[in-house]
Amino acid sequence: MFKLKNYINGELVDPVSGEYIDNYQPATGKVYSLIPRSNERDVEQAVSAAKEAYPKWSSMRTEKRSKILQRLSDLIEQNLDELALAESKDNGKPVWLAKSVDIPRARDNFAFFASAIKHFASESHRTSDSIINFTTRTPIGVAGCVSPWNLPLYLFSWKVAPALAAGNTVVAKPSEVTPMTAYKLSELCIEAGFPKGVFNIVHGLGGEAGNAIVEHKDVKMVSFTGGTSTGAHIARTAAPMFKKLSLELGGKNPNVIFADCDFDKALKTTLNSSFANQGQICLCGSRIYIERSIYEKFRDAFVHEVSQMVVGDPMSDQSRMGALVSKPHFEKVKGYIELAKEEGGTILTGGVEVKLEGELSEGWYLRPTVIEGLHEQCRTNQEEIFGPVVTLQPFDNEEEALRLANSTGYGLASTIWTQDISKAHRMADKIEAGIVWVNCWLVRDLRTPFGGMKNSGVGREGGWEALKFFTEAKNVCIKY
Ligand code: NAD
Repeated sequence: MFKLKNYINGELVDPVSGEYIDNYQPATGKVYSLIPRSNERDVEQAVSAAKEAYPKWSSMRTEKRSKILQRLSDLIEQNLDELALAESKDNGKPVWLAKSVDIPRARDNFAFFASAIKHFASESHRTSDSIINFTTRTPIGVAGCVSPWNLPLYLFSWKVAPALAAGNTVVAKPSEVTPMTAYKLSELCIEAGFPKGVFNIVHGLGGEAGNAIVEHKDVKMVSFTGGTSTGAHIARTAAPMFKKLSLELGGKNPNVIFADCDFDKALKTTLNSSFANQGQICLCGSRIYIERSIYEKFRDAFVHEVSQMVVGDPMSDQSRMGALVSKPHFEKVKGYIELAKEEGGTILTGGVEVKLEGELSEGWYLRPTVIEGLHEQCRTNQEEIFGPVVTLQPFDNEEEALRLANSTGYGLASTIWTQDISKAHRMADKIEAGIVWVNCWLVRDLRTPFGGMKNSGVGREGGWEALKFFTEAKNVCIKY
């Protein structure tokens, strides 16, 4: 069985313990490779390599650092098909999606920060005739980056690229559920010519390798994307050590559809925002609120389209949806469908497993599921399901729409559909979410701040926000 390796001090190495974790292929439900079960000893080696590499990397000319990151981006482009296949096999997502979204975005993340660092500048403030302030922004040291399974290489690179571009060295851990493309990236890092120890990738379980990164005294900042309860645990560990923390956490995003929307566009995009990547995108809208005058028309058209969606082999271009990422996650999502029924919800379509044939007969496939008749305060509407399950609820006016949209503890993203520009502005102002899309969804500009409010996180990624997070500001005030 193929064994992945850690990438420490420029080399691909086995875990110190010699132990491995099973890596499953969601499409078949079978183990297909083994993941290093790293512990604090592997993390210690990685952090000490990163510490040693830091003085040279952080003082290297920006252009030189930028070139290495750009080389990595080019190598991702050259290996795009292979990486997309690996992502699909590891995660269960359709290969067309990995090819058109995940891997191109990982390529773009490195290219974006390779360029951004060349344009990153700091401020100076003239206070009076004889007083000037200037601010420097310098790298900090060893950055710890921990990422989830839903967009594996996409989100992994979204953290490590700005950390490295800013001049920090990195110890990163991808999710143990989907480690394959990070492993393949480590091979490409060697080819790209990263100096030893600058970028280290340690595989393993969250509570072991992940925790060891967060706890390590020489890791000065932690950038984490994952679940809200894991984020709370990480904050409890890191805060007393005064580490810089960026937490991108869970969501329960509202889609608000007003009667004056462009109906066809709202319908088409809502199908996507509900079920793309099997509904396993932190930005997917899972609570769909529809103005009462178009509720039935929208519901019927939506349910009709959802019932036609093809769930199937991730390798097939015909599959709109592939497999859910893991058996425990599959069971969790099915549990929420049962809960929705207990809470009085009506399943309009879906709610059942899909049994495929042959090799795929043990895979974790679920029909996209649409539920109505639930109160906004029930658990189905309050807790993050993170799967192909959405609820529908009518509303009567703008005030009610806003109240419903803001009725959970989360505040990551939101989508508003209306042709009334004033209404769009009023809603965007008052909606409690770090990201508001009006008449679109998942349109991303890498310069914009990305992140959530309330239980969806602390801090922002993207553009200057990321480079500010991965640097320390120092103000120098001179009187002359
Ligand atoms: P998770 O919290 O279980 O794990 C995320 C990562 O943290 C994994 O690499 C895991 O190994 C590691 N980890 C777990 N426990 C740890 C610990 N004690 N110390 C250090 N590291 C630890 O999340 P997941 O199930 O992999 O991902 C799904 C979650 O991620 C969902 O809640 C989703 O909303 C969220 N997410 C958020 C965003 C965002 O940008 N806000 C993006 C994608 C996913």
